[in-house]
Amino acid sequence: MYDLAEGIALFQRDTFPAKADLFAHLATTHRPHTLFVGCSDARVVPELITGSEPGELFVIRTAGNLVPAYHPAADGIAASVEYAVSALGVSRIVVCGHSGCGAMTALAENHDLSAMPTTAEWLRRAGASSTETVDTDKVSHLVRENVRAQVANLATHPAVARALAAHAITLHGWVFDIASGMVSAVDNP
Ligand SMILES: [Zn+2]
Repeated sequence: MYDLAEGIALFQRDTFPAKADLFAHLATTHRPHTLFVGCSDARVVPELITGSEPGELFVIRTAGNLVPAYHPAADGIAASVEYAVSALGVSRIVVCGHSGCGAMTALAENHDLSAMPTTAEWLRRAGASSTETVDTDKVSHLVRENVRAQVANLATHPAVARALAAHAITLHGWVFDIASGMVSAVDNP
């Protein structure tokens, strides 16, 4: 098993000193330019694939990069969206799906999720796209459709709707391909 303590020691010995000035600045400043909504999948690392430094991305990661449509009974995701837009003033929101997504695979292939009722409910609740598709590659089709659906869900959040109306924010849909490292835009997200 990977030794996290060793990783921390390595960070403190090598990485942190090289970015000491940046961290000194960030100690009192939090001005990320982008809200990045990605999958919790360990292979999709927002800062790595966008070449971002600490302090640049405000990140929400959920199973299947799902953002439920706004509901008054706020949850942690809605609160994070609101905070990013209203308090931090991000100028861009990216929803990033990815190849080989476990959540989308479970949906596309109608996996039996009876042993994971919370996951089943989550995938249902977030209104992830239907499995109706003529595409031969059901998973990659659903990954893209799901990104579109989540961008639409984001727009239902009042803070996002206000920022959109004020032309203060732009919404983007991406798909990250793990095998090639390519990031492609989802049209008309
Ligand atoms: Zn995923």
